[in-house]
Amino acid sequence: MRNTKKISKKTIITAAAVIAALVAASVITAVVIRSGADVKYVIVMSLDSRAMTLSAKQTVGYRNSSDGEISEVKLNLYPNAFREGAKIKPYFEAGVDAAYPDGINYGGIDIKSASSNGAPCEFSIGGDDKNILSIKMPEPIKRGASRSFDIEYTVKIPKTNMRFGYYDGIINLTNFFPTVCVLKDGQFAECAYLPTGDPFFSQAADFDVTLTTDRAYLAAHSGDLKSEKQEGGGRTFGYKAKNIRDFALCLSESFAVETAKAGGVEIKYYYLKGGTNSGEKAGLSARAIKFFSEYFFEYPYKTYCLVETFITAGGMEYPNLVFINKDMSESDKETVIVHETAHQWWYGIVGSDNLSAAWMDEGLTEFSTELFFEKNDRRLKAAEYYRGNYAAAKRFDQIVGEINPGNITMEKHLSEFVSEYEYVVCVYSRGHLLFKDLFKTVTEQNFKKAVKYYVKKNKYKIASADGLTAAFNKYYKGDVRGIFSAWINFNKEY
Ligand SMILES: [Zn+2]
Repeated sequence: MRNTKKISKKTIITAAAVIAALVAASVITAVVIRSGADVKYVIVMSLDSRAMTLSAKQTVGYRNSSDGEISEVKLNLYPNAFREGAKIKPYFEAGVDAAYPDGINYGGIDIKSASSNGAPCEFSIGGDDKNILSIKMPEPIKRGASRSFDIEYTVKIPKTNMRFGYYDGIINLTNFFPTVCVLKDGQFAECAYLPTGDPFFSQAADFDVTLTTDRAYLAAHSGDLKSEKQEGGGRTFGYKAKNIRDFALCLSESFAVETAKAGGVEIKYYYLKGGTNSGEKAGLSARAIKFFSEYFFEYPYKTYCLVETFITAGGMEYPNLVFINKDMSESDKETVIVHETAHQWWYGIVGSDNLSAAWMDEGLTEFSTELFFEKNDRRLKAAEYYRGNYAAAKRFDQIVGEINPGNITMEKHLSEFVSEYEYVVCVYSRGHLLFKDLFKTVTEQNFKKAVKYYVKKNKYKIASADGLTAAFNKYYKGDVRGIFSAWINFNKEY
C-alpha cells in the first residue's frame, strides 16, 4: 500500500500569493551544483530540545547521471523506521530492552511540502515501509542536466540509545534528513533501515548545513565548522563540506574536547566532561589519519571529529565523524578508534554497496586496523586482532559444517543474513582474512600500490568488487579473482 500525500497544483493567483511566493523564493534559492558533483544539500534547521524535534528546510541540487530521463527523484527517509507501527525496525526483537532502556519511544519524519523553483511538486511516501519519499519533478530531468528542489519537514528524535536518538544528555543526529537514493543500474536503490549492519547507501555530495539550537550545545560534526554564534541560550552553527557521503552530528552540553593535528587536518575528540579520558585519544586518532594518509591516500578533508557517545554497537562511521561507544574499556576504544578511522577511506572516500557487498569496506577496514597496529609498534595487539577474527571464522565454519544450512556466502544482501552473528563473522572476520591472504599473496609492495590505485580510481564514487580485483591484478602477475571467490564462497582452506 502506498500512502500518498498530494498537493494540488491549482493555484489561485492573488497579489498576496505572489508576495508569499517571492518571500519563499528569497528564503530558499535554487542550488547550483559545481561541475564534478552530482548532489548538493543545503539544510537550514532548528532544534527544539524540549520537544526533541528538528524543523528543517532542505534544498537539493540534483544532477541526472543516468542514461535516461528522470521524472521522479527518490529519497530515503530513515527516521520513519523509528515511528510507531514500523514493520521494519532498526533493532532485533531480542535487543529491544537494550535499545530502549527507559521503555519504547517513537520518532519519525513528517514531510510538510516539496517544491521546485517555487512551484509545488507532487510527492508520496512509500517504499517497503514508508521509508521512501518520491518527488515528481515539474518536468523530467534530462540526462546530464540538474534540478533544484525544496523539502520542508520536521523530525521527531526518539529517546533511545541507538545511532539515531537522544539519551543521557547526548543527541545522536544521524540519518535524519531525506537522502537521495543512489542510482544503481538505472534504478534508485531504496534502503530499508534493517537491523543488520549499516543499511545505508549514499553517494558523495556537497553540504551546506545551518543548525540553530536552543541550548549551548557542543557539536561533533561532519564537514568543516565555518561559523558559530551564541544567541540567547542557544547556538547557531554553520557547516560546509565537499564530497562527503552523509552528514551527521552528535550534540551535548556536557562534552569536553581535546584536539590534535595530523598535517593540515584538525582532529577533535569529544567526550563527556569528568570522564576518564587520558588525553591520548586525539593523538592516536591523529597517528591513524597520518598512517592511512601515507599508506592509502591523503585524507582529503580538513576536519576529523570523534565522539564518545551512547550507541548499541562499539562504534559507527560517518564522513569526518565517528561514534565511539563511551562505555567500552580503554583497550576496546583504542581498537574502535583505529577501525572507524580506517572507514574514512573504506566507506567514506571510496564508497561501496553496503547493502549487498558489506565485506568490501568492513573486510578492508578490519585488515587496515591490524595493519595500523602492526606498523605502529603494537605487534602483539595486531596479532591478537587477526587471531580473534581467524578463530571466529574457524568456529563458524565448524558450525556451518555441522548444520549444513546451504547458501553460505559472504556476499549477500543485508536482509538475507539470519543473524548479526552470521553477518559479523562473514563480513568482518572472513573479510579480514581475505585481505590478509591477498596481502601475503601479492606482497606488501604490490598491495600498497594496488590500494593507492584503487582509491585514486574510485574516490568519491561507488566501487565495485570488479574494480577492487582489477586494482590488485594491475600490480600482480597472477589473477587475484580466485582468492576473492574462494573466500567469498567458503572454498578456502586456511
Ligand atoms: Zn566497521
